[in-house]
Amino acid sequence: MKKTILVFLSIFVLAALVVSPALSQQKVKDLKFHNMQDYCWMRLAQIVPKVTDRVILPIGTVESHGACAIGADNYIPQNLAELMWDKCNALVAPPINHGTTGASISQFPGSITVRPEIMEEYLYDVMKDLIRTGFKYVFIVNGHGGNTDPLKKAMTRLHLETGAHLFTVEWWKVAFDAVKEVYGGKPQQSGHGDLEEAALVLSMRPDLVDKEMYEKLGKDNVGRAGVEDGFFMLPGWATSRLPEKGFGYMDFDVKKAKEYTQKKADYMANIFLEAVQRWEMMEGWKK
Ligand SMILES: [Zn+2]
Repeated sequence: MKKTILVFLSIFVLAALVVSPALSQQKVKDLKFHNMQDYCWMRLAQIVPKVTDRVILPIGTVESHGACAIGADNYIPQNLAELMWDKCNALVAPPINHGTTGASISQFPGSITVRPEIMEEYLYDVMKDLIRTGFKYVFIVNGHGGNTDPLKKAMTRLHLETGAHLFTVEWWKVAFDAVKEVYGGKPQQSGHGDLEEAALVLSMRPDLVDKEMYEKLGKDNVGRAGVEDGFFMLPGWATSRLPEKGFGYMDFDVKKAKEYTQKKADYMANIFLEAVQRWEMMEGWKK
């Protein structure tokens, strides 16, 4: 009996020796799925952190966006995550689709808002369990500005409590040159439901930008230039905003939209990889 147990144990140890190095040498692209929720928990336990300790969490909201779909802020980070996971060697977590929509446009049909204090706690809980699962690096792709403050608060608390590495990026505040390179526009922060946001939607689903409505309303009436300041109105008079007068009008060229989106995704993947590299370097200094 004892001998049988020993034999089984030896086989188990041998199998572990054979399997472990193979797993640690694998990349996410070698796996069956890159979406975390497609695995059973036992398989996930084998993968995290052995194959990867990195996860991408897309977050957004449901909000009016002029002629773009009200789900634009959800579709965009999810699509960017799809374009980034391979390069980042990261799994993709199920997205957070309800966020903190601004008061000025939250009264328009379809807009849904979660209060900032609830959002902070919700994000905190979700990210905490990603960390408990074994992810050491959490990369949040945020598709919506109203989420920024609650997100930063939740990230700060989690970092101080768990030591986990957290990183967030907002596409409209990075890689400004992309719009110049593809559309010839001035490099600047994008507006809302404008050329750039529409490009990110068009690149994935051209049917999600309502050209008929855009033309019916008139391109100058779908939004106003966002450069002026000094007044505040509730509700806002439009659900989209141009980065400046005369610029930010939509371009329905899907090829250009794909090129623009890929540039944004590449930039974001690269800064995440750079952050991981710097964090790893700092880990070395701690010893
Ligand atoms: Zn948006």
